[in-house]
Amino acid sequence: MIPYGRQDVTEADIAAVVEVLRSDFLTQGPVVPRFERALADYCGARHALAVNSATSALHIACMALGLGPGDWLWTSPITFVASANCGRYCGASVDFVDIDARTYTMCPRALEQKLVEAEREGRLPKVVVPVHLCGQSCDMRAIHALGQKFGFRIIEDASHAVGGKYLGEPVGSCRFSDVAVFSFHPVKIITSAEGGMALTNDDELARRMDLHRSHGITRDPSLMTHKPDGGWYYQQVALGFNYRLTEIQAALGLSQAQRIDEYVARRHQLAHRYDQLLASLPVTTPWQHLDAYSGLHLYVIRLQLKAIRGSHKQVFDALRADGIGVNLHYIPVHTQPYYRAFGFSEGDFPESEQYYAEALSLPMYPTMTDAQLERVVERISKAVSS
Ligand SMILES: *Cc1c(COP(=O)(O)O)cnc(C)c1O
Repeated sequence: MIPYGRQDVTEADIAAVVEVLRSDFLTQGPVVPRFERALADYCGARHALAVNSATSALHIACMALGLGPGDWLWTSPITFVASANCGRYCGASVDFVDIDARTYTMCPRALEQKLVEAEREGRLPKVVVPVHLCGQSCDMRAIHALGQKFGFRIIEDASHAVGGKYLGEPVGSCRFSDVAVFSFHPVKIITSAEGGMALTNDDELARRMDLHRSHGITRDPSLMTHKPDGGWYYQQVALGFNYRLTEIQAALGLSQAQRIDEYVARRHQLAHRYDQLLASLPVTTPWQHLDAYSGLHLYVIRLQLKAIRGSHKQVFDALRADGIGVNLHYIPVHTQPYYRAFGFSEGDFPESEQYYAEALSLPMYPTMTDAQLERVVERISKAVSS
C-alpha cells in the first residue's frame, strides 16, 4: 500500500533522540526551548510554545484569549474536529463558516455575511479559527480586516502549513492573527511523534499559554501574589493542564525542522507532477492562490462525478483495493453526531458538503518516488474509467 502520508526519520534524527536519552533531562530540559526558538525564528514570530499536540495548542490559545461559556468560536467545517473542539473545551459555543469553492478554506465573503447577521442578533464570535487546509494559507488579510471591524480574535490552525508562506512571509509569523498553531503528528510536514506549537507576537498571550500548558504554575516572582517563601517556591495562579512536550519529542522535532524547506520543495515537485499527469482525467486538481505558497501537507483532488461512471465511494474503494492509500480530509465537522446534537444538519454548509462528496487525498510525502506517483496516477486513471 502506498500510504497517503508518512514520516521520514533520518539517522541524524535518531542520533538527536539518543543523545537526549543519555542526557540528564527527559522532560523540562534545554531542548524544548531550542525547538521553540528554532520555529519562532523560522517563522519570524516573537514567541513559540511547544506542547504535546496541536489540539493542546488550540486549547491553550483559546484559554489565553479568554474564551468561555456564552462566547462563540467559528471555524471551517472542512477540518479535523480539534479546530472546533477547542472551543467546546472552554465551554464556548461553536459555529461554522462555509468554504470557498476554489481554495476549500474559510470563505471571507461567507464570513462577512455571517458576521453581519450575527451582529444584528448579538452573537458575534469572540474567536475565529481559519484552517490552512492542505497547507495553503487562508485569505488572512481579509479575515484579519473583518476581525478589526467586528472585534474577534484569530487563531490560525496551521497544522498543515509549516513551511508555507503567505504574501511572501512564513505561515506562523502571526502578522494577521493572534496565535498560529502547528501540528507535529507523523503525517504532517515535520514530526515530533506527537507534538504541537503555538506561536504569537503578543507577550501577554505567550505568558498565559505558558501557564496553561503546565498546571497554571509559575516560578516567576513577578507573577506571584507575594514574595516567594524560599528557593522551592512556586505558585498556582490559574487552572492549567499538563500539556508539556518531552525532550525526546523536541529533539526529534528540532532535528526534523532543519529539513522543512527541503520537504516542502519536494512536495511541490510531486504536486507539479500530479498536476501534469492528472490534467487529462475527469478530476479537479488543487488550485493555488497567488498569495500563498502552500506547505502541501495534502494533495486533494475532486472527482468530476458527472464524467465518471462509478461513485465517489466506488472510486475510493477501487483505489484502496489496488494498493493506493487514498484518504478523505475531511468529513464536515457539523455533520458529526456530537455537533448535530447542537442543531446542525446536512444542507447547512453546501460548499463544504459538495467538497466532501467529491474529494480524495492522494499519497503525498517527501520520500515518495516519481515511480510511486506514476503508479498512483495510473490506478486513478483505471478507477475513473471503469
Ligand atoms: C492534525 C490536525 C490537528 C490536530 O493535531 P494533533 O497534533 O494531532 O493534535 C488539528 N487541526 C488540523 C487541521 C489537523 O490537521
